[in-house]
Amino acid sequence: MAKQALTLPNGETILYQLERRPRRTIGLKITDDGLVVHAPKRIFEFQLHQILMQKASWIIDKLEARRNNFVPPIVWQDGETLMLFGNPILLSVAQNDKNKQPEFINNSLKIASPEANNHAAIRRKVTQWYKKQAILDFGRRLEILATKLGVVPPPLSLSNAQSRWGSCSSRGDVRLNWRLLQAPPHIINYVICHELAHLKEMNHSARFWAVVASLFPDYKKAEKELKALSPQLHRM
Ligand SMILES: [Zn+2]
Repeated sequence: MAKQALTLPNGETILYQLERRPRRTIGLKITDDGLVVHAPKRIFEFQLHQILMQKASWIIDKLEARRNNFVPPIVWQDGETLMLFGNPILLSVAQNDKNKQPEFINNSLKIASPEANNHAAIRRKVTQWYKKQAILDFGRRLEILATKLGVVPPPLSLSNAQSRWGSCSSRGDVRLNWRLLQAPPHIINYVICHELAHLKEMNHSARFWAVVASLFPDYKKAEKELKALSPQLHRM
């Protein structure tokens, strides 16, 4: 269906999808494709325009929120940008007869593979590398922070959860999401402090947060940052 043009009061011209429906009111929604307008079958063009103008600030706000939140998916090929410890790094993929171990040099992760054009294969190699680094890095941090808290460093494993960054079992095993390796170091530290604090308080009570604060005073800010960062971290 052809798109309609609409010039908003802020001077921006957008294209929107107009769908005529057997309904009495106008409905607006913002999709990945932009603005979609559901309009009654019988409505004059000028009436529709008038209503869209009344809703202009809503449309502008929603479109902007979409744009700001939109995180393009990773394309597993040479030249893509990945995140490591909060910094952008380059994914460098080269065709090679032999399957080599990934190397991290000069801010780029170098992958050499006979399947350089196979996105799934490249993805597998990269995520394996991230997991390997994650267990080393998180393990070191866990040891330091456990010592600071005065507890024996608990057993550590990696998780692949879609929604949780860390967990601590009743037996005292800590699991951390390997995707956290993409986050800035202070965020990784915060998640570790959070899970370590559960070794003392198996809940989210005020006493628990006091333990977190003793290890990581600025935990509220970190918690917010982590939330804002989540869509980015889930790209991988
Ligand atoms: Zn918790």
